[in-house]
Amino acid sequence: MNRCELLAPAGSLEKLKIAISYGADAVYLGGKDFSLRAQAANFTREELGEALSYAHARGVRVYVTVNVFAHNQDLDAIRRYLRYLGELGVDAVIVSDPGVFSLSRRVAPQIPVHLSTQANVTNLESALFWQRQGVKRINLARELGIREIRAICAATEMEIEVFVHGALCISYSGRCMLSLYLTGRDANKGMCAHPCRYRYRLEEEKRPGNFFPVEEDGRGTYIFNSRDLCLVNRLPELMDAGVSSVKIEGRTKGIYYLAEVVRTYRAALDYAATHSGSGESSDISMPGRFMDGLSKIGSRGYTENFFDSLPGPKDMLYEGPAVDQTFVPAAIVASASPDPTFKINTVLRPGDRLEYMGKGFETSRFTVKEIFNLEGQPVPQALGGETVRIIPVPEVRFEEYRLIRKKAKKSMPAACKAYQKKTGNDMDEHTMLP
Ligand code: SF4
Repeated sequence: MNRCELLAPAGSLEKLKIAISYGADAVYLGGKDFSLRAQAANFTREELGEALSYAHARGVRVYVTVNVFAHNQDLDAIRRYLRYLGELGVDAVIVSDPGVFSLSRRVAPQIPVHLSTQANVTNLESALFWQRQGVKRINLARELGIREIRAICAATEMEIEVFVHGALCISYSGRCMLSLYLTGRDANKGMCAHPCRYRYRLEEEKRPGNFFPVEEDGRGTYIFNSRDLCLVNRLPELMDAGVSSVKIEGRTKGIYYLAEVVRTYRAALDYAATHSGSGESSDISMPGRFMDGLSKIGSRGYTENFFDSLPGPKDMLYEGPAVDQTFVPAAIVASASPDPTFKINTVLRPGDRLEYMGKGFETSRFTVKEIFNLEGQPVPQALGGETVRIIPVPEVRFEEYRLIRKKAKKSMPAACKAYQKKTGNDMDEHTMLP
């Protein structure tokens, strides 16, 4: 069976280190310029250099998104940026626009080009077209099923990459004007406010304040609230089809999502690789524990989208905005055992019961016995943003950039709830508030 790369989002330098710590083979990120995820923190040039050194020292590849749809006035700056990325030694650039692709081949031919899902490759002829242009890898459109993926892998010589986890867009990958018209935030520039998931009502202009429900089959008022993609149980089939890389969506998502999804998919890919024999790939049954981990992160429930057939009502979420997140990230291990320090994410006090998220399914429960500041003085609590030492009981062996988590008291962050109350719209924790 094909050895498959695990490609994780890196919305910041810290997230890049977390993704690597949990087993990503490669990460994708955006610089401050020309990246489609305007909401992600994105990397300054200095951070890009540091990201590359850090990743390469650990054998991890770094792909940089340059997936804007450029206008004429952007071209000079893009040319300079591509030249800079070439000198920096990035492992690939991810592009959508044929113009940017063409510039990249001319000014930095040494950088392999990956075609973004924004280019919407949905068929073999389109894939072959891009192969002739010299693209090294294509991220296929998310609207393909396994039979189409298999056929494209079999008939092309490029690497084929497929999204396996994360939020789904109901239009073809962001080609939608709903957000721009309703909120002024352009989905095609990575700033979608997800208005397709809002709850709508109808108001006749002569009867202000008299709202009529907008319903889809009486169960809800969401226009296109898709569940999130999750193909963890279908990894053996993707690997068997010849897919080279499986990609996790979510450069703007939180560190807990990142850690849990990357460690689960790492374990699942390793499981599929070691259990592949001579039989049918679809016969490999993935243990339920993979879904257990993924059910602990906030989501809209899961769908396999187009994998077997066209999605239908069961793939939409009519009942409400989100499935609860059962844990929150409490701290990041800033330096490893034997003298570990922790960057605190939420208030911690002696007596708190926490869980250390190791690799795969390794989870160690412990209680905070004492907290010390970096000067060695005991402190009654540690606040978000502080770096401290913690004495755990029982002892735990901590590794760098792994997470400590805590049971969530509230199912949804307060900001989301406040936004919901104020606007009546649903907002998930990963969506930036307007
Ligand atoms: S509003 Fe919905 S369908 Fe449109 S780009 Fe945003 S997520 Fe996609």
